[in-house]
Amino acid sequence: MLDQAQRILKDVFGYDSFRGRQGAIIERVASGGDALVLMPTGGGKSLCFQVPALLRSGLAVVVSPLIALMEDQVATLDELGVAAVALNSTLSADEQRLIAERIRRGEIKLLYVAPERLVQPRMLSFLQGLDVALFAIDEAHCVSQWGHDFRPEYLQLGQLAELFPTVPRIALTATADMRTREEIVQRLHLQSAERFLSSFDRPNIFYRIVPKEQPRKQLLNFLAARKGDAGIVYCLSRKKVEEVAAFLSEQGFPALPYHAGLSNELRAYHQKRFLNEEGLIMVATIAFGMGIDKPNVRFVAHLDLPKSLEAYYQETGRAGRDGLPADAWMAYGLQDVIFLKQMLNNSEGDERHKRVEQHKLDAMLALCEETRCRRQALLAYFDEELPQPCGHCDNCIDGVQTWDATEPARQALSAIYRSGQRYGVGHLVDILLGRDNDKMRAVGHQHLSVFGMGKALSEGEWRSLFRQLVARGLADVDLDGFGGLRLSASCRPLLRGEVSLELRRDLKPQQSAKASSSAASQLVRGEEREQWEALRSLRRKLAEEHSVPPYVIFPDATLLEMLRSKPSTLAEMARVSGVGARKLERYGEAFLKVLAGSAEAPRAVVDLRHELISLARAGMTPTQIANQLGCSEKNVYSLLAEAIGRQQLSLEQALDLPEELLGEIQDAFLDGEGELPSASEISEQLGGRVELGVLYCVRAALQAEFEA
Ligand code: ADP
Ligand code: ZN
Repeated sequence: MLDQAQRILKDVFGYDSFRGRQGAIIERVASGGDALVLMPTGGGKSLCFQVPALLRSGLAVVVSPLIALMEDQVATLDELGVAAVALNSTLSADEQRLIAERIRRGEIKLLYVAPERLVQPRMLSFLQGLDVALFAIDEAHCVSQWGHDFRPEYLQLGQLAELFPTVPRIALTATADMRTREEIVQRLHLQSAERFLSSFDRPNIFYRIVPKEQPRKQLLNFLAARKGDAGIVYCLSRKKVEEVAAFLSEQGFPALPYHAGLSNELRAYHQKRFLNEEGLIMVATIAFGMGIDKPNVRFVAHLDLPKSLEAYYQETGRAGRDGLPADAWMAYGLQDVIFLKQMLNNSEGDERHKRVEQHKLDAMLALCEETRCRRQALLAYFDEELPQPCGHCDNCIDGVQTWDATEPARQALSAIYRSGQRYGVGHLVDILLGRDNDKMRAVGHQHLSVFGMGKALSEGEWRSLFRQLVARGLADVDLDGFGGLRLSASCRPLLRGEVSLELRRDLKPQQSAKASSSAASQLVRGEEREQWEALRSLRRKLAEEHSVPPYVIFPDATLLEMLRSKPSTLAEMARVSGVGARKLERYGEAFLKVLAGSAEAPRAVVDLRHELISLARAGMTPTQIANQLGCSEKNVYSLLAEAIGRQQLSLEQALDLPEELLGEIQDAFLDGEGELPSASEISEQLGGRVELGVLYCVRAALQAEFEA
């Protein structure tokens, strides 16, 4: 059986060997047993049911909670030459009938379906009349009421055990905790399932957490080495999402906003673009996440603190599904702590619930202030022990300096106490530094005994100290007021001199910025860049022709292997991991040509156009596009005009013109009779006020309108 599975792995999927426990899982399910699979994101869960589906006779039914996930998998299988379809609400009755007929004729191997549809009596009796190979229940944690993704429809999937007693069932999830695991077993009636628990470590992700100082500047520094990479930036509020997306686009990093306040259509559109285009950044609230199967997300950046380690793990886990190097980066500061604590305090819910949430937040804060290996700490929270420091996180790489902060901490606590436990960090630092300003005099704090006692430390060091006091629960935030600090019960031993306190020394921004160009940016080195881009642009072109995301043609890992192993014949190409029989036949030649260099000439122009259109759609100005592509602005304008003429771009996408000016220009063009005047005529008429390139674009838009 395993032999046969190996052959399918190579012939259909193009991979040489199973990863982790895939082999054992496939053997179990293919031979008719049930399985519960707990594997992190990117671990390779899909193969665990796709290979058995091909090994067993009959139709494999895959339950998936989201249309986007289904479509992605169906497109991927389609490219591999495997007959798969998704039944969902977007299909017409006729289309559905057609699919049913194909299923009855045995033409389909995998059927993807939403849970609510699967459990409809008509659907169930339809399936009972067929040979069903297996049921795969993806994202099985949706059955858990405690998780964030609870789907009531999942509860009804338990009946499959009774209705199809001889059909093997495999449930899969990337949610690890014990409680969810037991709920899945119970509710899905999987008592006899063999459990396959993988390590939840994501070794290819580099973790870095930096103190927040000038977050935008810090983010730009982080992004500087990652130009052209796709990534997600998480923020807490919708407003901030909008602002950061606009800011990044302005700075030459094409970015789109995503949050619950946008219309469904716009959200779906932005999500689609994120999947289909390369190098786009999604700036999002946590509303963006589930259903994102994009394998080549190269980084996840947090500009605000997640409220638990569960959330942090899940959000950062969206990076690097393809196993290539990826980064998890976060900037965090005292304001985050204050904000989350206030939110928690104002939330509905009973005391017990609040206590649980408080513990979760404390664990998140502890990771931020961690002085040991971040990965060890993160995994320990999920009950997994990593024996050695990982060597692949900021703490391991940069080392962490700690210092004895006992005395300054006592001064800080004393400043809180003596000023009446109601002032924020700004004022407290002023007291310690002895700043004799108006506010100080107004409240008379220049007479406090701690006034000016802390001149040995800088303002930044004091702020860092206060942040750590709050993170460790030694001081509390006044939740009703304006972020004033109070003493907490647990600071007593410190005040009484019974314990000492070691704190983390924050790195200077320059140090951390220098250290932050890590793994991902090293993916492709200078001399390979050109060929890498050529491979990517061929992939992009094929993806457009087939209307699928680029990674469905070939994942980055496969392109990278082509780049490194330089196959020169089809036989050699077949050995590249990720090149199965069908893709070899379809795409082998084309990629060989690029590798041989003969396809490079046409690349230049065709590719420039693709890229230009993506950049313009992402909201870049012509000047920014010119910088990005390294060509003249004049060239950019004429390519934009051309794209507008072909209706690949709208005028609004290409240029951001004030409405009045646009009206004036259009009037100028439309003034006369017959043929549109040339752009240079209009330029003269407007006294050279408007750039000629702009006029080309407006003219192209008018022309396109006439022809339509
Ligand atoms: P998950 O669903 O667990 O997040 P996927 O099934 O999407 O993970 O797999 C992640 C990536 O790893 C995909 O690009 C997939 O093709 C690739 N992959 C899975 N199994 C293997 C394997 N045995 N060898 C090489 N690549 C694999
Ligand atoms: Zn580490």
